[in-house]
Amino acid sequence: MIHHTIEALLKNNRSWVAQKLAFKPEYFNELDTEAKPSYLYIGCSDNCMSLTRLTQTKPGEIFVHRNIANQVSLTDFNFLSVLDYAVDHLKVQHIIVCGHYGCRGIKAALEGHTSGLVDNWVNPIRELYWQKKDEIDCLSTKAARINRLAELNVMVQIKNLYQTSIIRKCLQKNNAPQIHGWMINPKTGLIEDIEIPLFRF
Ligand SMILES: [Zn+2]
Repeated sequence: MIHHTIEALLKNNRSWVAQKLAFKPEYFNELDTEAKPSYLYIGCSDNCMSLTRLTQTKPGEIFVHRNIANQVSLTDFNFLSVLDYAVDHLKVQHIIVCGHYGCRGIKAALEGHTSGLVDNWVNPIRELYWQKKDEIDCLSTKAARINRLAELNVMVQIKNLYQTSIIRKCLQKNNAPQIHGWMINPKTGLIEDIEIPLFRF
């Protein structure tokens, strides 16, 4: 992998801006920074692929929250603030919980070799592994076990989403956003829409 220097990042930024302006001088003036995004995306911090590039969306179309292994934590004030703002103020029509294959957060939970705060953070995923141990352990490779746990993790995070007071309130009013479960496959660049069990309370 090529590791750019910090100076190279800023140089690349200027080069990218110059390319955009050469192609379309009004590019930045035409970006609607006031428009409300229709999508809330809850993804993993270590996801290596740019969401706007993968989905061919424009800046501002997707409201983004990321953390290690795309967790929906009912005690995470940061996440709950994002969710509340997205649902109540932005009135997003869709919420996407997105995991990815080869996730290092899932790997850390499965292998149990982490130390420090991340060990606490991924503990719910470790609990999920113990619940689904029989299903996961019969897979033949470590990569397959990590990837299946990553899929199950998305399903559980969606279940958690339905348990937040914010989504429960929307469901009572019959105006809840549609909730989707996605997996990004970094080896193909493809996004898979995974089937989610019906979580309604
Ligand atoms: Zn990840």
